[in-house]
Amino acid sequence: MEYEESQLVSCQKCNKKSVPKLWHVNRNIFVNKIIQHLCPYCGHEMHKSGGGVSLVGWFVVIIFVIPLITSVLFGDSPKTIKFNEDRRNLTLSITSLEKSVDKYGKLVRSLESKMENGKNPHLLSQVENMRSAHQRYIKRKLEKELKLEQLLKDFE
Ligand SMILES: [Zn+2]
Repeated sequence: MEYEESQLVSCQKCNKKSVPKLWHVNRNIFVNKIIQHLCPYCGHEMHKSGGGVSLVGWFVVIIFVIPLITSVLFGDSPKTIKFNEDRRNLTLSITSLEKSVDKYGKLVRSLESKMENGKNPHLLSQVENMRSAHQRYIKRKLEKELKLEQLLKDFE
């Protein structure tokens, strides 16, 4: 609602006729500009136009607010998603390390049983290598298990 010089409006408060002063209120980019039509004599607000959610506001609502609300209402929160992912990765690591521990344990035992039949220096160095690999996998598996334990504790 724009006013021309000829359009005099009488103020509901002071009853004087005037061309209202337009006052632009620009709160933020998420809301449309509000134009207040003020009485130049007493400052009474005769009319207000504009306002409402702006294009940027709607953009933010559609991109961020709606997905957030739906995820809270119907799905997992980002924290839960992260937790599930970490837990899955750790569980997979532990399973694969478990296989390695098992494999190297068997190798060590089989080499040790062969060694009982005589002192073979080649076999001895081989069994040492297998033992250290076995220990390494046990240690890594333990580290992952502790991480998983901590993860579960933190999530509670
Ligand atoms: Zn007035």
